[in-house]
Amino acid sequence: MSSFGSLGDPAATFVLTGVRVIDPWNDEDAVRDIAVVEGQLVDPAKAPSDAPRLDARGLVVGPGLCDLHVHLREPGMERAETVESGARAAAHGGFTTVCAMPNTDPPLDEPARVAMVLERARNRACRVRVIAAATRAREGERITEIGELARMGIAGVSDDGSVVASARVARGLLAYLAPLGLPLIEHAEDPALSAGSVMRAGPTATRLGLAGWPASAELSIVDRDIALAEETGGWVHFTHLSTAGGLDAIRRAKERGIRVTCDVTPHHLALTDAWVAGWRGFAWEEPTGVAADPFGAPLDATLAYDPACRVNPPLAPRAEALALLAGVADGTIDSIATDHAPHPLERKRVEFGAAAPGMIGLETALSLGLAAVEVGGLELVRLLGALSTRPAELIGEVRTLQPGSLADLVVFDPVARWRVEASGLASASSNTPLLGVELPGVVRMTVAGGRITYRDGLAAVD
Ligand SMILES: [Zn+2]
Repeated sequence: MSSFGSLGDPAATFVLTGVRVIDPWNDEDAVRDIAVVEGQLVDPAKAPSDAPRLDARGLVVGPGLCDLHVHLREPGMERAETVESGARAAAHGGFTTVCAMPNTDPPLDEPARVAMVLERARNRACRVRVIAAATRAREGERITEIGELARMGIAGVSDDGSVVASARVARGLLAYLAPLGLPLIEHAEDPALSAGSVMRAGPTATRLGLAGWPASAELSIVDRDIALAEETGGWVHFTHLSTAGGLDAIRRAKERGIRVTCDVTPHHLALTDAWVAGWRGFAWEEPTGVAADPFGAPLDATLAYDPACRVNPPLAPRAEALALLAGVADGTIDSIATDHAPHPLERKRVEFGAAAPGMIGLETALSLGLAAVEVGGLELVRLLGALSTRPAELIGEVRTLQPGSLADLVVFDPVARWRVEASGLASASSNTPLLGVELPGVVRMTVAGGRITYRDGLAAVD
């Protein structure tokens, strides 16, 4: 039996016994007890004797996950998702903070609209931070009232969905944001290079007869913004990085001390452009069929051209997905962020090129990461660092499991498996090509700000 709670609930008291504690904040990986008393982590020896004791043997507890990039679709597209349903999807996926992107209808480009979303987010199943629009109406020309928005606690500014196309405007934003300590969160896509494309350029796109998005569409903006960040001292954060070239440029910029950070989505790590051709293996699996030879193998007519695989930026070829995974492993990529992009069925049950780009991700992110850990490509402490500790740090939040901290954590079974089904998702949408796929990792409890926001099982010890 699973159930949701909210940040408005009374603070929780319980003891998890025999749990594997992974705390990237101080590099801890140890089996011990975790005690929460009235929402605070305390020394287990000092927990009251009547605190409920929950058997957590075989389970992992990590810091609460933090997502820098979600689309909650409110206001304007409430059939796809609302702040309430998105917050439940987040809690179900182990997240305790999500950052809502501003490309709603109308966009979050003025303080009153940001205030409205923050008001709707009160006492939900997950903390919601807002990323405000970088320019008015997201038109790329006039900068929003960033000073006032900063005082409201925004996590950054972005015209996500589009790049800030004018280098002059991007430069002004970086200069203006620098003293505020906030990032310009950039959707790096040069529209002149990507116009008309629906998947990543390459042999698979050629085989499918679909117009290709060249990797240079991302790299040209990454290079431009690195130069602007260096010149202004501003902070640029590249979201949903999808190319090996962009990653290389960021690695070199970091070595030179330029203020640049980035995130990658779980689907750009785990899925590849071969999914558009109907292959259903993960990037770290040996390719077969059309994934191994796009021109030599027949297409699977039931899976090729699946509109659920249309995302922007598009899924990368396998070699680049593996390069991105290596970037998470070596810390060049700061964070894994979902780009959770719910869409109603009618925007996806159309031909591939007409489908709205985007897939949901809050409820499968941890599982895709654990699938990468299972095959040995990634350490669990690094995965949780990228899903929690580091993104939280980027938005000014602290995540640790040390006694004395507010309890903000996720408890999960790393080996239990579940099948992704629309009926089992808390999101109001189910647009993901992972439907029907079995994944490792089941969330048993999410605790945000000392409150239990999601719970599934966890029996009391007598
Ligand atoms: Zn984007």
